[in-house]
This record gives sequence, structure tokens and C-alpha cells, in this order.
Amino acid sequence: MAARVAPPDAACMHTRAPRIGIVGAGVAGLQLALFLRQHGVETTIFTDRTPVQLLGSRLPSTVCRFAPTRDRERALGAEHWDDPALATNGVHFSITGAPLQFSGAFARAASFVDMRLYQATLLEDAANAGVRVVNGALHLSDVLVRAKQHDLLVIATGRGRLSDLFPRVEDRSPYAEPQRRLFAGLFNGIAHASQQTLSFAISPGHGEIFTAPFFTLTGLVSGILVEAIPGGDLEPLTHTRYADDPAGFETALIDALRVHAPMVFERIDRSAFALTGPLDLLQGAITPVVRAGFVEIKPGVFAQAIGDAHVLNDPIMGQGANAASFAARTLGEAILSGGPFDAQFCTHVEQRIWAYTRSVTEWSNASLQQPPPHVLHVFEAASNNSAIADAVVDSFGYPQRAWSVFGSPDGASAFVRSFESAAA
Ligand SMILES: Cc1cc2nc3c(=O)[nH]c(=O)nc-3n(C[C@H](O)[C@H](O)[C@H](O)COP(=O)(O)OP(=O)(O)OC[C@H]3O[C@@H](n4cnc5c(N)ncnc54)[C@H](O)[C@@H]3O)c2cc1C
Repeated sequence: MAARVAPPDAACMHTRAPRIGIVGAGVAGLQLALFLRQHGVETTIFTDRTPVQLLGSRLPSTVCRFAPTRDRERALGAEHWDDPALATNGVHFSITGAPLQFSGAFARAASFVDMRLYQATLLEDAANAGVRVVNGALHLSDVLVRAKQHDLLVIATGRGRLSDLFPRVEDRSPYAEPQRRLFAGLFNGIAHASQQTLSFAISPGHGEIFTAPFFTLTGLVSGILVEAIPGGDLEPLTHTRYADDPAGFETALIDALRVHAPMVFERIDRSAFALTGPLDLLQGAITPVVRAGFVEIKPGVFAQAIGDAHVLNDPIMGQGANAASFAARTLGEAILSGGPFDAQFCTHVEQRIWAYTRSVTEWSNASLQQPPPHVLHVFEAASNNSAIADAVVDSFGYPQRAWSVFGSPDGASAFVRSFESAAA
């Protein structure tokens, strides 16, 4: 899109450098803050938790960051976990009870790092870089005041309440309730798969189980995410209270892995298998929703949403933090190209972000349903051809590419055919 030319009065208003306020120190807020500071923009971040409080909080997620996100982190000087020994190099995919399985490699490694550690570290980086850090949750009643103090207020509060400022976009939000119940936890006592791969097991009718090497405060452990279909065998794990009977819970999880993810079960050492700490698990559910990307709080005063506050998906395809990183970079670049930070600016940013997050959303939402025949066709092709397997696995880092394959029978056929013609 062509560069925008500000009208004369607005240009005057923005002859000084802009002041940007960011609410929320997650992936989106922190990457945006670091990017803006790197380019000399006066930036304030409002955080509900200090680094120490973040480190002492409950496991929020089991995020896998793919190569493009890691590239953006490196450019920000914020890739602290580059050691190949911590990397995840590929995916082993299986459908439990079916003869279908394959392993593929990422062209460039992905990484699972505990978001408590990640956020605490990047928040310190931001403070060291000169971002003004204001501690304390921002309330709805503070938003207008803070928006007026800045040229643009960015809401990057994830699943926090402030996202209610942005109306739900009905035609992009097909679900009114969660399609999965979630359990995630960090465990000792699982041997890492060869090549340090992510195991992705689909158990038809019951859900999905993801297991990967995961770097947390105590070192490299295993992260498990169970995406349970309501009413299926896995659902009790998502609401049974671990604290009531830790040993009973761990036995139930092992039993579930034996039936629904046998290749992970085989790697368990029962004598060492245990949750890494009482706060290292989460249980819950997410209703996917796309919200408006900005709101005019009062005439001429705007707030822009990025990350989960804008586009929230079930984590089944592992895309939310990667999309938040993309959104932060997109908004950062737009801010550098100049204001005024008005409805036209916010619309332009929202459209650029949606051009990417649309694939994330449609792919994630489709994956919450039974895989259709064309998706199974790609999986079968991958199980017979390692080049296809690698391409399928690598596409996780590039959701637009993935959705061009999985989104339609034509896309799937063209993808598989492209390998046949390459081999001919
Ligand atoms: C189990 C699970 C597994 C996942 N796996 C993956 C994965 O593999 N890959 C992937 O890309 N994504 C994954 N995700 C999604 C990912 O966690 C989110 O998409 C991502 O964290 C969104 O980043 P964000 O910056 O928008 O929000 P968040 O990371 O949620 O950060 C928002 C921050 O703002 C703070 N905040 C909230 N309200 C306020 C307030 N009023 N004032 C100040 N601060 C506030 C919050 O406490 C939080 O620290 C997973 C999520 C879950 C739950």
C-alpha cells in the first residue's frame, strides 16, 4: 500500500516523535515495545505483573515459537534461548488406532520456552532498552485517560478483560463455545524423542495430545498439552483437581497416554514421572473469537488491539503467540511510517494483520472438526514421502502456506501433485 500523507494539521501534531502506550506484557506487547524502542520511539508498557511475579505465576500456555517469530526476536536482540540443545527440530504425527504416521523436519528449528520465563526476560530487556514500565493492571476506567496521554494506546492484554472494548466480529467467529477442554502441564520422566521432536497424536473422537521438549526455569523438561473433545476419554484430565490427589492424577494421565498417545507412553519412566511443580499445570477452555482491531474510545481517541486481544484461537495449531509476534511487527512498522493514528491508520493495520491471521483463524477453527478427506489425503501422502512430510511440518511456521494446502481439496491435491511432478 502507498505511504499515507498526513493532512497538514495532523502533520503538525506529529512533528514531534509519537508517544505509544502498550497495555500488557505478553508476546505482542513486549515485541512491539522492543521494536519501537529500537527505533527511538517513546514507549510505555503497562504490566499487571513484575518479572518476579511472572516467574512465580501459574503456567499460562505451552507455546511453540516457529522460525519467523524467532527471526523477529533475534532482530530485537531478544533470542535468549538459541542453544540448539533446546530446539525442537521436527514433528512426529500419528493418528491413534490408524496405520497413519509420519515424521517431518522443520527447515529451521522451533522452540518451546516457558512464557513466564520469556515474559520476565523480555520485560527486563524492555526496561533496559529504555521502555517506561508502569506496574499494575490497567482498568477499563483508566483506558481513556491513558489513551489521551499517548498518540496511540495499544491493547495487548491477551485474554484479559480489556479485550471486551473491541466488539466481536460475528462472521469471523463461528463458535459460541469452546470446542476443546484443555489440560497442559510440565513433566519430568519422559525421555525426549530422537531429534527432539514434537509428538502430535490425534485420537479420533477424543482429541489431540502434544508432547515436546520444553525449556523452563529448572531446565529442559517435557510439556504436554491435551486438547480434549468434550465428552471424550480425555476430558476428565481437564477438570480433575491435581492438588486433591497428585499421584492419582499422574496415573490417570499415564493411562490416557497409553491409550491415546502410545508413542509418548513408551518414553515414560514411571519412577521419575511427575509434574515439575504445583503451578506447572493449567486447565481451562477457549472460545475462539475475532474482535474488531480497533475502537474509537472518544471522538479522535483510538485504541488498537493486537495479539489475543484481537484474534483469539484455540491453541490446537500452535499459532497464537506467533501471530501476536507478526501483529506486533506489523503495527510497529506502521507506527514508524507515521501518523496520524486515526481510523484510517487503525483500519490499515487491522487489514494487514487480518491478511495473516485469517489463515491462522480458519485453519485453527477447521482443525477443531474431524479432518476431512483431503486433509487425510495429505497426511497419507506425507506418510509415504519424506519430502511431503517435511513440507507439511515446516508449514506450521507459515500459516498462510499451511492453509493454502489444508483449506480446500484443490489446494491439497495441488500440493501433493507438486511433489509428484518434482519427482518426475
Ligand atoms: C495451552 C496453550 C498452548 C498454547 N500453545 C501455543 C503454541 O504452541 N504456539 C503459539 O503460537 N501460541 C500458543 N498458544 C497461544 C498463546 O499463548 C497466545 O496466543 C499468546 O500468548 C498471545 O500473546 P498476547 O501477547 O496477545 O497475550 P498474552 O501472552 O496473554 O499476554 C497478555 C499479558 O497482558 C496481561 N494483562 C492482561 N490484562 C491486563 C491489564 N488490564 N493491565 C495490564 N496487563 C494486563 C496478562 O496478564 C498477560 O501477561 C497457546 C495457548 C495455550 C493456552
